[in-house]
Amino acid sequence: MTQLDQGVHVRNPRTGMNDRALDAPSHEELVKLTSRLRANQKRWQDAGPAHRAEVLLRWRDALIAHKDELAQALTEDTGRRTESNIEVQVSVDGLNRWANQAVELLDEETIQHTTMPGVSVAPSIRPYPLVGIISPWNFPLLLALIDAIPALAAGCAVIIKPSEITPRFLEPLAKTLIDVPEIGEVVGLIEGAGETGAALIPLVDLVCFTGSVETGRIVAENAARNFIPASLELGGKDPAIVLPGANLDRAVPGILWGATANSGQSCLSIERVYVHESLHDEFVSRISPMAAALGVNFPDLEGRGIGPMIAEDQIATIASHLEDAYAKGAIATAGGEMKFLDGGAYLEPTILTNVNHSMKVMTEETFGPIIPVMKFTSDEEVLALANDTIYGLSAAIFGEEGRAKKIGRQIDAGAVSINDAALTGVMHEGEKQAFKLSGIGGSRMGKISIRRFYRRQSLLINSSTGRDPWWWPES
Ligand code: ADP
Repeated sequence: MTQLDQGVHVRNPRTGMNDRALDAPSHEELVKLTSRLRANQKRWQDAGPAHRAEVLLRWRDALIAHKDELAQALTEDTGRRTESNIEVQVSVDGLNRWANQAVELLDEETIQHTTMPGVSVAPSIRPYPLVGIISPWNFPLLLALIDAIPALAAGCAVIIKPSEITPRFLEPLAKTLIDVPEIGEVVGLIEGAGETGAALIPLVDLVCFTGSVETGRIVAENAARNFIPASLELGGKDPAIVLPGANLDRAVPGILWGATANSGQSCLSIERVYVHESLHDEFVSRISPMAAALGVNFPDLEGRGIGPMIAEDQIATIASHLEDAYAKGAIATAGGEMKFLDGGAYLEPTILTNVNHSMKVMTEETFGPIIPVMKFTSDEEVLALANDTIYGLSAAIFGEEGRAKKIGRQIDAGAVSINDAALTGVMHEGEKQAFKLSGIGGSRMGKISIRRFYRRQSLLINSSTGRDPWWWPES
């Protein structure tokens, strides 16, 4: 037996203790599981969209029945409570949404007549039999299910491999599969790290990956070698722009939320802020005390404040971004220093001023609760700064709507929130694709995102009785 990812342990981010061993499958077990899912998928596909929608609603009920256990497992792995509850709720909402809309979306079109006399087309959609989901640690449940739910609605079977850093939710999720056996037949859950993820790709028909650019590239190469499509959602360095005349009563709390929710450990986090010179000082003087008042959720997990750093590697990355910024002249007006409390690493919401694009904190993905604020003078200047990045996930603009929209259309990113920040974190209805190194593949949001999970097939039917004019002439 080829055992994968041996000796990997799971760390509790509040205690710093490696208190659980990862239970990855052997390669043989993985092959067996994927074969079983593939065999079961046929029945799931044949059951039709209406039946699948009804089963997805039963799965929703099972998720609701186990919501406390799910939230608790997520909280243990991530050190935060509020976002864990949100993860469960967003997954329940996703099941509701897809169950309600999938039947209509998957309605196979009726026979189409063509310009060619006697020839008609009977279209149909053919789901990819088995979809592999390789997901990250920042929103373990939400990002495991965001693609799994539409894939199931489309008629695929799915196998989910979450991050080795946050696998604890699999246990309560497995209970929901027992509650709804029809879902259990077409959903596989596996623990594992990179070896398991790499071994999974040749065994599936489509891979949905959320994670870093570095690993995304390896996943895409592996998928290309196996000739399967890859839907990749990677990093971001989302800018927020505050235009002259913007309503700071919205911009200040909106940006604070967009930058520090989940302690900034989100690909669509606001990671840099550009404020027009007319509002810069007022913006800084208003957001700094608000950030300081937010604080961290230590010692009270249930209280206000943001959680610890989830992934151990991130602690050094964030510290290096801060160090680099300070060395180049940045000034912290709130937070600013990593604190180690009871084994957990916490960074209070941090506001940096006097920043520029020579600093890592303005150009590399930080994935922490840091809000660097830079002054700008013209729309042209701010547009150039916003687009000065290798990423293109999302952005935010606060200001008069017409002007904000004009700038928004020129930003190279898939989703631009106007007079709000990080709206795609809570609303999944706007179609958008990732630009630049933030990803590749079809929209993950909006109704069309289900199209990633099936291929189109047409029967081209000729009902003529005579010979076709393009055939070889009769001799
Ligand atoms: P992060 O979660 O920090 O963004 P990664 O992008 O490395 O980090 O991880 C995202 C997911 O990719 C995790 O589930 C991880 O186990 C998985 N993974 C890591 N390496 C590989 C690989 N070579 N092939 C497939 N999946 C991988």
